[in-house]
Amino acid sequence: MARVLKNKELVNTRLAANYGGWMYCEQCNENIGYLCYSTYDRLEMQYQCNCGSTGSLLLDFDDSKIGEDCHDELVIVKNRLCCPKDHDPLITILDKKVAKYELKITCKSCGSIYQKDKQ
Ligand SMILES: [Zn+2]
Ligand SMILES: [Zn+2]
Repeated sequence: MARVLKNKELVNTRLAANYGGWMYCEQCNENIGYLCYSTYDRLEMQYQCNCGSTGSLLLDFDDSKIGEDCHDELVIVKNRLCCPKDHDPLITILDKKVAKYELKITCKSCGSIYQKDKQ
């Protein structure tokens, strides 16, 4: 079922589909990662691409829950960052393509808000 976006703010960034799929830096057109369509409730991310451009994404939905801060680490399964509780794959960041990033992502099934960064 299609979800209804509430906020969608992309800066210097392109998404392959409405609220998921490959993420591209708009300056150099490199893909910087992949956002799973149906498993997240909210994404907030800032990054600096290797080309020097900085970009950001903010996405959430009409039916997004508020979520709860969680200090557990996301687990990496086949380069996907996954929720450690239910193992839902949430997002892939291609570490080699970005100089740094900061992300906050809410898992839809358990409502945990995870943070991860590379400085
Ligand atoms: Zn770039
Ligand atoms: Zn979860």
